[in-house]
Amino acid sequence: YTRKARQAVQIYHADLDVNSVERLSLINDLKKAISCGQLEVFYQPKINLQSNEVTHVEALVRWQHPKLGMVPPDNFIYIAEQTGQINALTQWVFSTALAQYKSWCALGITLNIAVNISAENLKDPDFYAFVCQALTSYQVPAEKITLEVTESAVVDDPEAAIALLSKFKGQGMRISIDDYGTGYSSLAQLKQLPVHELKIDKSFVQKLKDDEDDQIIVRSTIELAHNMGLSVVAEGIEDDYAKCWLAEHKCELGQGYFISRPKPALELTSWLQEQKI
Ligand code: C2E
Ligand code: CA
Ligand code: CA
Ligand code: CA
Repeated sequence: YTRKARQAVQIYHADLDVNSVERLSLINDLKKAISCGQLEVFYQPKINLQSNEVTHVEALVRWQHPKLGMVPPDNFIYIAEQTGQINALTQWVFSTALAQYKSWCALGITLNIAVNISAENLKDPDFYAFVCQALTSYQVPAEKITLEVTESAVVDDPEAAIALLSKFKGQGMRISIDDYGTGYSSLAQLKQLPVHELKIDKSFVQKLKDDEDDQIIVRSTIELAHNMGLSVVAEGIEDDYAKCWLAEHKCELGQGYFISRPKPALELTSWLQEQKI
Protein backbone atom coordinates (compact mmCIF):
# COMPACT_ATOMS: atom_id res chain seq x y z
CA TYR A 1 0.00 0.00 0.00
CA THR A 2 1.06 3.54 -0.69
CA ARG A 3 0.46 6.04 2.11
CA LYS A 4 -2.51 7.50 0.21
CA ALA A 5 -4.07 4.08 -0.32
CA ARG A 6 -3.66 3.20 3.35
CA GLN A 7 -5.38 6.40 4.38
CA ALA A 8 -8.20 5.66 1.96
CA VAL A 9 -8.68 2.18 3.43
CA GLN A 10 -8.80 3.55 6.98
CA ILE A 11 -11.34 6.21 6.11
CA TYR A 12 -13.40 3.64 4.28
CA HIS A 13 -13.56 1.28 7.28
CA ALA A 14 -14.42 4.12 9.64
CA ASP A 15 -17.29 5.01 7.31
CA LEU A 16 -18.62 1.47 7.43
CA ASP A 17 -18.76 1.46 11.24
CA VAL A 18 -20.40 4.82 11.65
CA ASN A 19 -22.88 4.38 8.86
CA SER A 20 -23.56 0.65 9.00
CA VAL A 21 -27.31 1.19 9.43
CA GLU A 22 -27.41 3.56 6.52
CA ARG A 23 -25.30 1.11 4.56
CA LEU A 24 -27.72 -1.74 5.24
CA SER A 25 -30.58 0.26 3.86
CA LEU A 26 -28.49 1.25 0.81
CA ILE A 27 -27.84 -2.44 0.11
CA ASN A 28 -31.57 -3.17 0.04
CA ASP A 29 -32.42 -0.01 -1.87
CA LEU A 30 -29.78 -0.70 -4.52
CA LYS A 31 -31.55 -3.93 -5.42
CA LYS A 32 -34.59 -1.88 -6.36
CA ALA A 33 -32.63 0.93 -7.97
CA ILE A 34 -31.85 -0.89 -11.20
CA SER A 35 -35.30 -2.39 -11.72
CA CYS A 36 -37.15 0.79 -10.68
CA GLY A 37 -35.23 3.04 -13.03
CA GLN A 38 -33.48 5.10 -10.34
CA LEU A 39 -30.09 4.83 -12.02
CA GLU A 40 -29.06 7.25 -14.71
CA VAL A 41 -25.95 7.55 -16.84
CA PHE A 42 -24.17 10.90 -17.14
CA TYR A 43 -21.58 11.49 -19.85
CA GLN A 44 -18.35 13.46 -19.59
CA PRO A 45 -16.53 14.45 -22.80
CA LYS A 46 -12.86 13.80 -23.52
CA ILE A 47 -11.28 16.13 -26.05
CA ASN A 48 -8.41 15.75 -28.45
CA LEU A 49 -5.97 18.18 -26.80
CA GLN A 50 -4.38 19.17 -30.11
CA SER A 51 -7.59 19.94 -32.03
CA ASN A 52 -10.04 20.58 -29.14
CA GLU A 53 -12.53 18.23 -30.82
CA VAL A 54 -14.73 16.02 -28.67
CA THR A 55 -13.98 12.48 -29.77
CA HIS A 56 -14.82 10.37 -26.70
CA VAL A 57 -17.18 10.37 -23.71
CA GLU A 58 -17.10 8.47 -20.44
CA ALA A 59 -20.30 6.96 -19.05
CA LEU A 60 -20.62 7.65 -15.30
CA VAL A 61 -23.50 6.15 -13.35
CA ARG A 62 -25.71 8.22 -11.01
CA TRP A 63 -28.31 7.08 -8.48
CA GLN A 64 -31.35 9.25 -7.85
CA HIS A 65 -32.38 7.83 -4.48
CA PRO A 66 -36.06 8.55 -3.62
CA LYS A 67 -35.18 9.76 -0.09
CA LEU A 68 -31.46 10.57 -0.10
CA GLY A 69 -31.37 12.38 -3.43
CA MET A 70 -28.30 11.98 -5.61
CA VAL A 71 -25.99 9.30 -4.22
CA PRO A 72 -22.53 9.57 -5.83
CA PRO A 73 -21.04 6.40 -7.35
CA ASP A 74 -18.17 6.34 -4.84
CA ASN A 75 -20.86 5.69 -2.18
CA PHE A 76 -22.56 2.76 -3.88
CA ILE A 77 -20.26 1.08 -6.41
CA TYR A 78 -18.34 -0.70 -3.63
CA ILE A 79 -21.65 -1.88 -2.17
CA ALA A 80 -22.69 -3.21 -5.58
CA GLU A 81 -19.31 -4.95 -5.78
CA GLN A 82 -19.60 -6.53 -2.33
CA THR A 83 -23.21 -7.68 -2.72
CA GLY A 84 -22.98 -9.27 -6.15
CA GLN A 85 -24.97 -6.53 -7.85
CA ILE A 86 -22.13 -5.04 -9.87
CA ASN A 87 -22.64 -7.45 -12.77
CA ALA A 88 -26.24 -6.35 -13.28
CA LEU A 89 -25.24 -2.71 -12.79
CA THR A 90 -22.43 -2.81 -15.35
CA GLN A 91 -24.65 -4.60 -17.84
CA TRP A 92 -27.29 -1.91 -17.39
CA VAL A 93 -24.76 0.91 -17.84
CA PHE A 94 -23.28 -0.83 -20.89
CA SER A 95 -26.67 -1.29 -22.60
CA THR A 96 -27.70 2.28 -21.76
CA ALA A 97 -24.45 3.61 -23.23
CA LEU A 98 -24.95 1.60 -26.44
CA ALA A 99 -28.50 2.93 -26.81
CA GLN A 100 -27.10 6.46 -26.31
CA TYR A 101 -24.43 5.82 -28.95
CA LYS A 102 -27.24 5.02 -31.41
CA SER A 103 -29.21 8.15 -30.47
CA TRP A 104 -26.14 10.32 -31.04
CA CYS A 105 -25.42 8.59 -34.36
CA ALA A 106 -28.94 9.46 -35.51
CA LEU A 107 -28.04 13.14 -34.86
CA GLY A 108 -24.81 12.82 -36.81
CA ILE A 109 -22.68 12.71 -33.66
CA THR A 110 -20.17 9.84 -33.55
CA LEU A 111 -18.35 9.37 -30.28
CA ASN A 112 -16.34 6.60 -28.71
CA ILE A 113 -18.03 5.70 -25.42
CA ALA A 114 -16.07 4.51 -22.37
CA VAL A 115 -17.62 2.29 -19.71
CA ASN A 116 -16.03 1.60 -16.30
CA ILE A 117 -15.44 -2.08 -15.55
CA SER A 118 -14.95 -3.52 -12.04
CA ALA A 119 -12.70 -6.36 -10.94
CA GLU A 120 -15.87 -8.39 -10.30
CA ASN A 121 -16.93 -7.99 -13.93
CA LEU A 122 -13.63 -9.49 -15.05
CA LYS A 123 -14.43 -12.57 -12.91
CA ASP A 124 -17.99 -12.92 -14.23
CA PRO A 125 -18.06 -15.91 -16.62
CA ASP A 126 -21.03 -14.38 -18.52
CA PHE A 127 -19.56 -10.92 -19.01
CA TYR A 128 -17.75 -11.53 -22.29
CA ALA A 129 -20.78 -13.12 -23.96
CA PHE A 130 -23.00 -10.33 -22.65
CA VAL A 131 -20.79 -7.62 -24.19
CA CYS A 132 -20.55 -9.35 -27.58
CA GLN A 133 -24.30 -9.99 -27.62
CA ALA A 134 -25.08 -6.37 -26.70
CA LEU A 135 -22.78 -4.99 -29.43
CA THR A 136 -24.51 -7.24 -31.96
CA SER A 137 -28.05 -6.41 -30.92
CA TYR A 138 -27.43 -2.65 -30.80
CA GLN A 139 -25.25 -2.87 -33.93
CA VAL A 140 -22.46 -0.80 -32.40
CA PRO A 141 -18.94 -1.36 -33.80
CA ALA A 142 -16.58 -2.65 -31.09
CA GLU A 143 -14.08 0.06 -32.12
CA LYS A 144 -16.46 2.67 -30.68
CA ILE A 145 -16.26 1.25 -27.16
CA THR A 146 -13.56 1.78 -24.54
CA LEU A 147 -13.38 -0.36 -21.41
CA GLU A 148 -11.82 1.53 -18.48
CA VAL A 149 -10.24 -0.89 -16.02
CA THR A 150 -8.32 0.11 -12.89
CA GLU A 151 -4.88 -1.27 -12.12
CA SER A 152 -6.20 -2.88 -8.94
CA ALA A 153 -8.90 -4.76 -10.89
CA VAL A 154 -6.13 -6.42 -12.84
CA VAL A 155 -3.81 -7.07 -9.88
CA ASP A 156 -6.44 -9.33 -8.24
CA ASP A 157 -5.97 -12.12 -10.76
CA PRO A 158 -3.64 -10.88 -13.51
CA GLU A 159 -3.67 -14.00 -15.68
CA ALA A 160 -7.45 -14.22 -15.93
CA ALA A 161 -7.74 -10.47 -16.46
CA ILE A 162 -5.10 -10.47 -19.20
CA ALA A 163 -6.84 -13.35 -20.99
CA LEU A 164 -10.24 -11.66 -20.91
CA LEU A 165 -8.95 -8.20 -21.85
CA SER A 166 -7.11 -9.79 -24.79
CA LYS A 167 -10.41 -11.20 -26.02
CA PHE A 168 -12.06 -7.77 -25.78
CA LYS A 169 -9.08 -6.19 -27.55
CA GLY A 170 -9.33 -8.90 -30.21
CA GLN A 171 -12.93 -7.84 -30.84
CA GLY A 172 -11.65 -4.31 -31.50
CA MET A 173 -12.53 -2.63 -28.22
CA ARG A 174 -10.22 -0.03 -26.74
CA ILE A 175 -8.75 -0.90 -23.34
CA SER A 176 -7.74 1.87 -20.96
CA ILE A 177 -5.95 1.64 -17.60
CA ASP A 178 -7.92 3.97 -15.30
CA ASP A 179 -6.51 5.88 -12.30
CA TYR A 180 -3.01 5.14 -13.59
CA GLY A 181 -0.35 5.79 -10.97
CA THR A 182 -2.51 5.19 -7.91
CA GLY A 183 -2.35 1.38 -7.98
CA TYR A 184 0.66 -0.78 -7.51
CA SER A 185 1.06 -2.79 -10.70
CA SER A 186 4.64 -3.24 -11.83
CA LEU A 187 6.04 -2.15 -15.15
CA ALA A 188 6.55 -5.82 -15.97
CA GLN A 189 2.82 -6.30 -15.58
CA LEU A 190 1.97 -3.21 -17.58
CA LYS A 191 4.07 -4.61 -20.41
CA GLN A 192 1.91 -7.74 -20.47
CA LEU A 193 -1.43 -5.97 -20.36
CA PRO A 194 -3.35 -5.79 -23.62
CA VAL A 195 -4.06 -2.05 -23.39
CA HIS A 196 -4.18 0.91 -25.77
CA GLU A 197 -4.21 3.75 -23.33
CA LEU A 198 -3.17 4.99 -19.89
CA LYS A 199 -5.51 7.31 -18.06
CA ILE A 200 -3.51 9.48 -15.65
CA ASP A 201 -5.30 9.83 -12.33
CA LYS A 202 -6.77 13.21 -11.54
CA SER A 203 -4.73 13.50 -8.32
CA PHE A 204 -1.65 14.16 -10.50
CA VAL A 205 -3.43 16.54 -12.87
CA GLN A 206 -5.52 18.81 -10.65
CA LYS A 207 -2.51 20.65 -9.17
CA LEU A 208 -0.24 20.66 -12.25
CA LYS A 209 -0.07 24.47 -12.11
CA ASP A 210 1.56 24.61 -8.67
CA ASP A 211 3.09 21.21 -8.05
CA GLU A 212 6.44 20.49 -9.66
CA ASP A 213 6.42 16.87 -8.49
CA ASP A 214 3.15 16.30 -10.31
CA GLN A 215 4.64 17.83 -13.45
CA ILE A 216 7.55 15.42 -13.24
CA ILE A 217 5.23 12.44 -12.67
CA VAL A 218 2.90 13.36 -15.51
CA ARG A 219 5.74 14.15 -17.91
CA SER A 220 7.44 10.82 -17.29
CA THR A 221 4.15 8.90 -17.46
CA ILE A 222 3.41 10.39 -20.88
CA GLU A 223 6.92 9.49 -22.00
CA LEU A 224 6.63 5.95 -20.66
CA ALA A 225 3.24 5.44 -22.33
CA HIS A 226 4.48 6.73 -25.68
CA ASN A 227 7.60 4.58 -25.50
CA MET A 228 5.34 1.58 -24.98
CA GLY A 229 3.15 2.57 -27.92
CA LEU A 230 0.23 3.65 -25.74
CA SER A 231 -1.75 6.84 -25.87
CA VAL A 232 -2.54 8.99 -22.84
CA VAL A 233 -5.68 10.51 -21.37
CA ALA A 234 -5.47 13.01 -18.51
CA GLU A 235 -8.48 13.31 -16.20
CA GLY A 236 -9.11 16.08 -13.68
CA ILE A 237 -8.26 19.06 -15.90
CA GLU A 238 -9.57 21.93 -13.81
CA ASP A 239 -7.88 24.97 -15.37
CA ASP A 240 -6.52 26.33 -18.61
CA TYR A 241 -2.95 25.93 -17.36
CA ALA A 242 -3.29 22.12 -17.05
CA LYS A 243 -5.04 21.87 -20.42
CA CYS A 244 -2.29 23.82 -22.24
CA TRP A 245 0.52 22.12 -20.33
CA LEU A 246 -0.83 18.68 -21.26
CA ALA A 247 -1.32 19.67 -24.91
CA GLU A 248 2.29 20.94 -25.01
CA HIS A 249 3.51 17.69 -23.51
CA LYS A 250 1.72 15.71 -26.25
CA CYS A 251 -0.97 14.13 -24.09
CA GLU A 252 -3.58 12.94 -26.58
CA LEU A 253 -6.90 13.28 -24.73
CA GLY A 254 -8.13 15.43 -21.86
CA GLN A 255 -11.12 15.30 -19.54
CA GLY A 256 -12.10 17.49 -16.61
CA TYR A 257 -14.39 20.12 -15.12
CA PHE A 258 -12.56 22.89 -17.05
CA ILE A 259 -13.78 21.27 -20.27
CA SER A 260 -17.13 19.94 -19.03
CA ARG A 261 -18.63 18.28 -15.98
CA PRO A 262 -20.41 14.96 -16.51
CA LYS A 263 -23.91 15.80 -17.82
CA PRO A 264 -27.19 13.98 -18.50
CA ALA A 265 -27.34 12.79 -22.12
CA LEU A 266 -29.78 15.50 -23.25
CA GLU A 267 -27.69 18.30 -21.75
CA LEU A 268 -24.52 16.93 -23.23
CA THR A 269 -26.22 16.71 -26.64
CA SER A 270 -26.98 20.47 -26.55
CA TRP A 271 -23.44 21.17 -25.33
CA LEU A 272 -22.00 19.09 -28.19
CA GLN A 273 -24.17 20.86 -30.74
CA GLU A 274 -22.95 24.25 -29.44
CA GLN A 275 -19.37 23.03 -29.88
CA LYS A 276 -20.37 22.26 -33.49
CA ILE A 277 -18.61 18.93 -33.59
P1 C2E B 1 -13.40 7.45 -12.38
O1 C2E B 1 -13.68 6.34 -13.32
O2 C2E B 1 -11.98 7.76 -12.08
O3 C2E B 1 -14.15 8.70 -12.99
C1 C2E B 1 -13.71 10.03 -12.90
C2 C2E B 1 -14.36 10.75 -11.76
O4 C2E B 1 -13.76 12.03 -11.63
C3 C2E B 1 -15.85 11.01 -11.96
O5 C2E B 1 -16.47 11.03 -10.69
C4 C2E B 1 -15.84 12.42 -12.56
O6 C2E B 1 -17.06 13.11 -12.36
C5 C2E B 1 -14.73 13.04 -11.76
N1 C2E B 1 -14.11 14.16 -12.45
C6 C2E B 1 -14.02 14.39 -13.77
N2 C2E B 1 -13.35 15.51 -14.05
C7 C2E B 1 -13.01 16.04 -12.86
C8 C2E B 1 -12.31 17.23 -12.46
O7 C2E B 1 -11.86 18.04 -13.28
N3 C2E B 1 -12.13 17.42 -11.14
C9 C2E B 1 -12.61 16.56 -10.20
N4 C2E B 1 -12.40 16.84 -8.91
N5 C2E B 1 -13.28 15.43 -10.53
C10 C2E B 1 -13.47 15.18 -11.85
P2 C2E B 1 -17.83 10.25 -10.42
O8 C2E B 1 -18.72 10.36 -11.62
O9 C2E B 1 -18.33 10.70 -9.10
O10 C2E B 1 -17.36 8.75 -10.34
C11 C2E B 1 -16.51 8.32 -9.31
C12 C2E B 1 -16.03 6.92 -9.57
O11 C2E B 1 -17.10 6.00 -9.49
C13 C2E B 1 -15.43 6.72 -10.95
O12 C2E B 1 -14.10 7.21 -10.97
C14 C2E B 1 -15.52 5.22 -11.08
O13 C2E B 1 -14.46 4.61 -10.40
C15 C2E B 1 -16.81 4.93 -10.36
N6 C2E B 1 -17.90 4.77 -11.35
C16 C2E B 1 -18.69 5.70 -11.92
N7 C2E B 1 -19.56 5.14 -12.77
C17 C2E B 1 -19.30 3.80 -12.76
C18 C2E B 1 -19.86 2.67 -13.43
O14 C2E B 1 -20.78 2.76 -14.27
N8 C2E B 1 -19.31 1.45 -13.13
C19 C2E B 1 -18.28 1.31 -12.26
N9 C2E B 1 -17.80 0.09 -12.02
N10 C2E B 1 -17.73 2.36 -11.62
C20 C2E B 1 -18.23 3.58 -11.86
CA1 CA C 1 -13.07 5.90 -15.37
CA1 CA D 1 -10.09 7.76 -13.08
CA1 CA E 1 -11.42 6.88 -9.64
